[in-house]
Amino acid sequence: MSTLTVMAESHPESMFEAVLARLDKAAKLMNLSDDVLRVLKHPSKEVKVSLPIMMDSGKIQVFEGYRTVHSTHLGPSKGGIRYAMDVNADEVMALAAWMSFKCAVANLPFGGAKGGIKCDPRSMSVGELERLSRAYAKSMKDVFGVNKDIPAPDMGTSGREMAWIVDEFNKITGEDSPGVITGKPVSIGGSLGRDAATGRGVMVNAMCALKKMGLQKNEVTAIVQGFGNVGSHAARLLSAEGVKIVGIGDHTASFYNEKGIDIAAAIDFASKNNRILKGFKGATEIPSDQLLISKCDLLVPAALQNVITEDNAGKIQAKLIVEGANGPTTPEADPILNDKKIIVVPDILANSGGVTVSYFEWVQNKAGYYWTEEEVNSKHDHKMQIAFESVWNATTQFKTSMRIGAYITALQRIEQGVMLKGAY
Ligand code: GLU
Repeated sequence: MSTLTVMAESHPESMFEAVLARLDKAAKLMNLSDDVLRVLKHPSKEVKVSLPIMMDSGKIQVFEGYRTVHSTHLGPSKGGIRYAMDVNADEVMALAAWMSFKCAVANLPFGGAKGGIKCDPRSMSVGELERLSRAYAKSMKDVFGVNKDIPAPDMGTSGREMAWIVDEFNKITGEDSPGVITGKPVSIGGSLGRDAATGRGVMVNAMCALKKMGLQKNEVTAIVQGFGNVGSHAARLLSAEGVKIVGIGDHTASFYNEKGIDIAAAIDFASKNNRILKGFKGATEIPSDQLLISKCDLLVPAALQNVITEDNAGKIQAKLIVEGANGPTTPEADPILNDKKIIVVPDILANSGGVTVSYFEWVQNKAGYYWTEEEVNSKHDHKMQIAFESVWNATTQFKTSMRIGAYITALQRIEQGVMLKGAY
C-alpha cells in the first residue's frame, strides 16, 4: 500500500464534518445569517443506487453509485463523478458542498453536486467500465439535466466515461443534449482547453500569489504531489512559467532533484509507463512521505485528500501551498500552517479552473458555437485572476486565512441566492 493511501485512511474524521468546521468558522467571522447556515448544512438531494454489472468473468457484481446535490441557489448543480474504492455517502456529500463553494468563488452560475461509484477502475476492463458507466447514467436519468444537474470527470474518470454517460443519457431522453455533461472529448462537444484547465488554474493562482508575496517566478522552486490530470498539467505549466520543479510524485513513487526535473520527460515517461512514475530516471527516488516536507518554495498537493495533517504540517518547508486536490489539508493542519505564515491558496479557489472551463463548455454547447483554445485560456485566466483578487480582498478585509477568505467570498454570493429565492 502506498504512503498516500495510508495517510488518507489513517484519518478517520468525517469529511463532511471537516467542511462544516470551516463553514462555521467563516459564517461566524462574516456574520452569516443562521437561516442560510442551516440551509447549507444539509445537502438538498442524496441518491444512492445499486448497479448490478455483468463482469467479463460471467458473474454479476453489484456496485454502489451515488449522486448528491448540495445546492442549486445560484444555478443548476455542477460537479464531477469519481470512480474510487473509498467513495462513500459522507465523502460525496463533502465534495458536493465543496462544489457549491467552488462554483461561487469562481462566480459561476452553478450550485454544487458530486457523484461517485465505489469501484477500482484500474482493475476493470474497458467493457466492464462502459457497462458500469451506462448503468450509472441510466439510474441517474431523473437527477441529471442540462439545466438541472451537470456532471463532469473527477478522480478515476475522464472524457471516455463522460462520452458513455452523455450517450446513454441522450438515448434515454431521445434528445441530443451535449451540455448535460462537461469534460467530454472535443470531437463530441467538449471544450478545447478543458483537459489542462484544472492544472492551468493551479498555475494562474500560483502566479497571482507569488506576485502578492513579492517572489520572482523564475527564482521559485516547486514540488508537485500527484501526476494525474491535475498534477502533470500544473507541473508542465508552472515549469513553462520558469518555476523550477524539484519534486514530483504519484501513488507509485516520489522523486526529488534540486537541479530541477525535466517535466516533459516525466510526462513522456508516464504516458509510456501505464501513466505511473515508478521507474522514472530523471531524479532521485525518495520515500513518499518525504515529498511534501522536502525543500521548496511552492508546494502543490494535487493527489488525494487529507495528506497535509497535524503530523506533517509542522515539517513543511514551502512558503506557499496551492491546493490542486480537493481537501488535501485537514482542519487540524490549518492553524499549524497559519502559525508558520505559510500562504495556502485553498482548493475551492486553486482547483476551480476545471469547473470554470466546464462552464465554458456548457455555454458553448448551449450556443452551439465553439471557441478557440486561445479564447478559452484567456477567458479562464481572466476569470481566475478575478476570483483570486476577490478572495485576497476578503482575506485582508476579515484578517483571516485565504481558506476562510474563500469561504466568505463564496458564502456572500450563496447567501444572496438563498435569501432572494426564499423558503416555503
Ligand atoms: N471534478 C472537478 C472538480 O472537482 C470538476 C467539476 C466540474 O467540472 O464540474 O472541480
